[in-house]
Amino acid sequence: MEREFIRRLITTIKCGVCGQPYEGGNVTILGQRDDLWFLSVSCSACGSQALVAAVIKEGESPQLLTDFTERERVKFRDLEAVGADDVLDLHIFLKSFDGDFVQLFAEE
Ligand SMILES: [Zn+2]
Repeated sequence: MEREFIRRLITTIKCGVCGQPYEGGNVTILGQRDDLWFLSVSCSACGSQALVAAVIKEGESPQLLTDFTERERVKFRDLEAVGADDVLDLHIFLKSFDGDFVQLFAEE
């Protein structure tokens, strides 16, 4: 049921590269931790891929976290597509991730 919801949710956002709305069939759920979902979506119009984090709480309207700047969009557009290894890496990461983004980004 949640997957169906996510598919519908993703159709409400537009491709950051070409501006076409995403299609629900082109979303892959990479992982979930509590209310936070990590999604990979590919644009059927231009083929670019985007990672989307969504905070989905029952009874509240979902928040999508896609804060790429135009420069980042260009940078990521030219990178190789996300492969199985990347998804596996993320899966391993999520298993041990405690949800503390402040700490995570402070480490960089
Ligand atoms: Zn596109």
